[in-house]
Amino acid sequence: MRVTLLGTGTSQGVPVIACKCDVCRSTDPRDKRLRSAIMVEEGSTRIVVDVGPDFRQQMLRHDVDNLDAILLTHEHADHIFGLDDIRSFNWLRKSPMDVYCEERVQKNLRSIFNYVFSTNKYPGTPQMDLIDLDSKAFKIGQIPVIPIRVYHYKLPVYGFRFGKFAYLTDFNTIEESEIDKLYGIDTLVICALRKSTHISHLSLSEAIELIGKIAPKRSFLTHMSHEMGKHDDLLAELPSTIEPGFDGLVLEI
Ligand SMILES: [Zn+2]
Ligand SMILES: [Zn+2]
Ligand SMILES: [Zn+2]
Repeated sequence: MRVTLLGTGTSQGVPVIACKCDVCRSTDPRDKRLRSAIMVEEGSTRIVVDVGPDFRQQMLRHDVDNLDAILLTHEHADHIFGLDDIRSFNWLRKSPMDVYCEERVQKNLRSIFNYVFSTNKYPGTPQMDLIDLDSKAFKIGQIPVIPIRVYHYKLPVYGFRFGKFAYLTDFNTIEESEIDKLYGIDTLVICALRKSTHISHLSLSEAIELIGKIAPKRSFLTHMSHEMGKHDDLLAELPSTIEPGFDGLVLEI
């Protein structure tokens, strides 16, 4: 299995528009963070988790010419606002895109992208089939999926385990029974917004504490804000099994 970090930035991305801080002005390409998303490939199956406003750029950057499905963690703008750009895949495949998400997210998509779901469609609108997602494990082609329930302050969000890999973003609470589903993974990609605490995201120390509990062989941080500091400085501060993720990082699982 191969996992590509398509984006590792928080909702505004890094650099932040109009920000003059050291991180936003850094010339290190690893300090340029598109909105968070990953691509998972196993055999001939290729899926993406989350489709934020940078989806178009992410697909072009990695020369992606087909996707079998999309999984959505939740309905915040930085995770869904690229959905209009699935049109190219619709045309190439001549079929709707399978979009897996829970009922509440589906309801929000029907409202936000009302033109996609209207009965009188404008020609050329994106086509997607919304597929129910709950706590049950399932398979997309060759990729096994175990949904992991986490909480983004009070908002229920899904993270995912794919075999020996797991992706958890946009949360700061997880129940013990869900942590149980993560034991035995080799690689974890987990959100860490910044060093100070936040109402709905894990801080760096909270992420490190949870990583200690799950104990994967290696972990990579994602959904980072410019307040987290520069990639190189952060890397130097972290234990050897934890690294800041960066856009374009490919993990062989
Ligand atoms: Zn987010
Ligand atoms: Zn900044
Ligand atoms: Zn969010």
